[in-house]
Amino acid sequence: MTLPAGASPPRALTIAGSDSGGGAGVQADLKTFLCCGVHGMSAITAVTVQNSLGVSGFYELPPAAVAEQIESVVRDIGTGAAKTGMLASAPIMRAVAATLAALDVGPLVVDPVAASQHGDPLLRPDAVEALRDVIIPMATLITPNLGEVRLLTGVQVHGREDMDAAADALLALGPAWVLVKGGHLPAGEAVDLLCDGTQRIELRAPRRATEHTHGSGDTLAAAVAAGLARGLDVPDAVRLGKRFISAAIDGSFPLGSGVGPVGHFWRVRDWPD
Ligand code: PLP
Repeated sequence: MTLPAGASPPRALTIAGSDSGGGAGVQADLKTFLCCGVHGMSAITAVTVQNSLGVSGFYELPPAAVAEQIESVVRDIGTGAAKTGMLASAPIMRAVAATLAALDVGPLVVDPVAASQHGDPLLRPDAVEALRDVIIPMATLITPNLGEVRLLTGVQVHGREDMDAAADALLALGPAWVLVKGGHLPAGEAVDLLCDGTQRIELRAPRRATEHTHGSGDTLAAAVAAGLARGLDVPDAVRLGKRFISAAIDGSFPLGSGVGPVGHFWRVRDWPD
């Protein structure tokens, strides 16, 4: 996609938490949007206190503040697609759902974030029900990893053979599409399953040998949202997202003394001198 100088790019909105370490959350989403040729906007839900060693805490914004951020940008600027990440609490989820229901934000990608890779919670325990009941039914696409599949449906995925049952249980919650991410399976290729009730598409990628994958889930979901904002259909937006995250994992790097982030730099190597 080449954008003529002065032309307005497509727009996408992320509704998510801030990662003070800059590797995940809103920070990853906005970098991904830029790298995918989309103007990024944000409605921040919570501010996490974190570095490469983990999340030591988070502060939620008042639900009305989250709703007002969404309304402000959508009513004026508009968006071609939206993405949710860390929604933190049931009251924030209810405010987000009510606000989105009253606006046209285009396709909605829901990354059902529950915990960090270190296992630190990013969701109040009583918010799982609201995620399942008020957010997921609004989604064009949900992008759970295997831990999130288990949390949402009780289905435990041990291998590719369990992924169809997981996808069916997730589709029963009401999203139009589900992407079951098999990246955490122990061996072999990384296999994801994309389904909408009629189509079943397997997406395979060679497994990358790096521990520095902080922000990978956010980056994939944001790249998919950027593809949707650019007018791609769901399967093509997911293929774009997979290409983007594979390159970002190849470009990941150590940072601090813990887990480093996936790298968005591969897309912007021409730095000004
Ligand atoms: N912090 C925020 C604000 C996030 O949204 C997420 C993931 O969605 C994380 C941290 C955790 O990222 P990871 O699981 O890649 O470490």
